[in-house]
Amino acid sequence: MNRVVRPNRRALLSGALVGTVATLAGCSSTEAQPATTSAPTQAPPTTPTTPTAALKRLMEGNQRWVKGEPQAPNRDPDRRQAVAEEQKPFAAVLSCIDSRVPPELIFDVGLGDLFATRTGAEVVSPVVTGSVEYGPVANGTPLIVVLGHQRCGAVKAAHASLSDGETLPGHLAEIVTALQPAYEKVAETGGDDPIDAMVRAQIELVANELRSNPGLAPLVTKQELAIVGAYYSLDTGAVEVLSGAPS
Ligand SMILES: [Zn+2]
Repeated sequence: MNRVVRPNRRALLSGALVGTVATLAGCSSTEAQPATTSAPTQAPPTTPTTPTAALKRLMEGNQRWVKGEPQAPNRDPDRRQAVAEEQKPFAAVLSCIDSRVPPELIFDVGLGDLFATRTGAEVVSPVVTGSVEYGPVANGTPLIVVLGHQRCGAVKAAHASLSDGETLPGHLAEIVTALQPAYEKVAETGGDDPIDAMVRAQIELVANELRSNPGLAPLVTKQELAIVGAYYSLDTGAVEVLSGAPS
């Protein structure tokens, strides 16, 4: 987005301003993406339009990533041109800022395929939630993936801060505060690996929060949108679906 709008939140969520939001310069399209055929190794050029097809596309890409056989689709100049005027990403990914978890690489997709929102330990705030809502509400994106990962440094730091009662400097403390529910959930259940348990708890808490979001819940009910919780292994490169897979 290259200009700022301040739509009324209730109106946006009710769909009244979807048309306005959808015309944000360079941010969206209501038309299907032209097929790209320049590279024989590219993934199928049709854009998934259902939650099931979108998740299948991502998981197939992840399998290629795991095997070390990425096709790197949709990354050539033709694709750049094809999406220069409009875009129709088939999934929105909310993931961690961690340098080892870039969504386009681990799902082996390319330009114009994902709305990617990244925060420390994929914590949400009103602005972050709005960014995640944008694809499904304004652009018809059929899938949201909340992606946490193994050995998350943000979760580890928050766990240490909350255990020791030491406040992290600056706005890092905000991330700790946002992770407190996951910390408390794990404190109830215990376990051998509290950091990993907290990562998984955070994924589920965020996914559940998005599922109850008044702008997204109706889309989930109509099966036009799936909100999937998923865990990425740094060791293997594999994405494990934890919840919310479309039936
Ligand atoms: Zn992380």
